[in-house]
Order: sequence, then structure tokens, then C-alpha cells
Amino acid sequence: MKRILTCLIGITLGRAPNFIKTFLVSWLAEPNIRMYEGSDGNGPERFESVFFELRTRCNSQCSFCAASIQNETRFDNEMSFEVFKKGIDDLQKMGYSGRVAFHITSEPLLSKNLFSFVEHARTKLPRCWLQLLTNGRKLNLANAGKLLNAGINEITVNWYTDEPSKPIPEKFAKIKSEVIAKRYPLENILPGHGPGVDEYKKLFRYNVVKRDISETLSNQASSSPNKKEEITNQVLGFCHSPMTDLHITTDGSVSKCSKDVHFKDVMGNIMQQSITDVWGSTRFLEVRKMLLNDDRSGNPMCRNCDYFGIKHSSYLRISGSKKSSSYFLRSLIFSIMRNAVYSDNKRPTG
Ligand code: SF4
Repeated sequence: MKRILTCLIGITLGRAPNFIKTFLVSWLAEPNIRMYEGSDGNGPERFESVFFELRTRCNSQCSFCAASIQNETRFDNEMSFEVFKKGIDDLQKMGYSGRVAFHITSEPLLSKNLFSFVEHARTKLPRCWLQLLTNGRKLNLANAGKLLNAGINEITVNWYTDEPSKPIPEKFAKIKSEVIAKRYPLENILPGHGPGVDEYKKLFRYNVVKRDISETLSNQASSSPNKKEEITNQVLGFCHSPMTDLHITTDGSVSKCSKDVHFKDVMGNIMQQSITDVWGSTRFLEVRKMLLNDDRSGNPMCRNCDYFGIKHSSYLRISGSKKSSSYFLRSLIFSIMRNAVYSDNKRPTG
């Protein structure tokens, strides 16, 4: 009901003059910018999530994705252990304890090294949250078991289908009952992402979400095959991605965000620099400073990117509790504005 209501208000607000939308989006962006700008205005000293792209291949045909089978133009490259190890060594030296994920735009279960890489990350980074995001096509009871044995903390499946009325395959329920429940008490197997607030309660996160294989997401900085329109007159929010995320592809190159599917705007390479040096590089600082001014005009890719920005989950961090009135208000206005900004465009969900 809340979703329908925010959609309806959003569609109505979408027709409002731009100055109203600009005011509301700036109001939403402001606490995010304050949180991420850091003491010197250069952005945070450290990222919150690291994404390793283990292989530049996917086995799905999602029409919104430049990495899907029919749209892929890259060579089929795999990350070597040397590159992965260098990344993990750098993270260990930094005392990193955030999220380590094994995807960017491709499918992690196509990597033959996935299990040994997860195990290596678990050994070297015992406090990190290890996440597997997969389309689920290759996920089965056997490899789910191998992932849990290797030390994964979360499996999230986006089950893309062209038959939305069909139920999600039974194997996903079996993975929970016959694999995860063998290692975790049922009450500790929860949906959602990341560790819980109670660090002594050992959680496992498991999500299976049905998605439409032909849905329209954001334009992925102009790389999305099913959303080619020019950005016109859109009021977009503050993009947090280069403040929070580090994306490393197979040869060690680092991009500024996940929307740069082809790594065209490289910030550095972990085989030539330490991760700390890449994060603090002039290229990264320039992009961050531009975005912290709530401006996308100085970078060609950002200029043509319709990602709404603004991290919704940050409002929980800022407000401290889901029950607080400020969280309620900002979340509500966030949902409304997101729908408002896109109401005259195809609906983006990512
Ligand atoms: S605005 Fe720029 S940094 Fe942000 S997602 Fe788009 S391309 Fe990436």
C-alpha cells in the first residue's frame, strides 16, 4: 500500500516544476554529503564495500545489462589468483573489515576459482562480510554447500525470469533447508544484507528475489542496451558510489562505480599501486569532489548517468533507528522523489 501511494504521489510530483524537485532532492542529499565529505572535503578515507569481478562473463539474457549473453562485447577474462591475492593482501594490511563481494556485472558462479577465492578471503579477512550475489542459474545444493564451507556469509539470488507468474524453482527452498540449515539455526538465517547489530549472533543472510528479465533499470551510465534515451531535464540526487564502493576487475583495474561496466574510466590498478593509493589517487579525488558538490557535469560518464543516487540505507545510519521520525520522513520523501524524478521516464530500479 505504501509503495502504491509513494508511486502515485511520485507520478503527481513528477509533473511539478523543477525547482520544487531540486529543492526536495537537495534536502535529501544534504545529510548524505555531510556524512561522506570527510574532514577535508575529499570524501571518506576508506570504502565500505569491495567488489571483485572474477570473470567477465554472464549466463543470463537480461535485456538491461551490457554484460548479458546477447550484449557482451568484452573478451572472456578471468581474474588470476595473483591479482585476487594482491587485493586481499592490501585489504589485510589496511585492517579492512567491510563487505567483500564477488560480482560487479557478471556472474560469479561462472568462475572456476570462486570457492578457493572465497576461502582465501575468509582466512585472510576473518572480520569481513563475504557476499555472493548471483542470478542463481548455476546455484545448486552442492555448490551452495561448498560456498558455506569456504566461509561465505550471504547468498543473494536475483532470479531473472520472463515468466513472472511461475514460482521460483524449488531448489532455492532446498538450499535453505538442506544446506544452510545444517550449519545455522533456522532463526539465524535471515533475509537482508550484511551483519546484524548483534555481533555475537552468527547470522547467515539468504535472499531469493524474483525479477523481470526485461525490466528497465537506470541507464548504467549510458551502457544499458534497453535504455538509450538522452538524459533530459532530470533532477538527480547525490551519487555516493565513489565514496563507498571499490570495484576491481580481472586485470586489477579499479573503476569509480559499478555503472562503468567496461572499465572505461579507470581510477588505477591494484597490480601497480596499493588499494590505499588507488583510493587516494587524484582521479578518484577529482570525481569525489565533483560529486560532493552535487554536480555531475565534470565527468562525461557521470553527465550521462541517470542513477538517482543518494543511499537510502544511509538515513538509518543518520537517524539511528527505523522508528525515528526523521528516518520515516526522509525515507518517505526519498521513495516519492525517486518515483517523481523518473515518472516521465522508464522506471529504474537499480
Ligand atoms: S553518477 Fe558517475 S559515479 Fe555515480 S553511478 Fe553514475 S557514472 Fe557512476
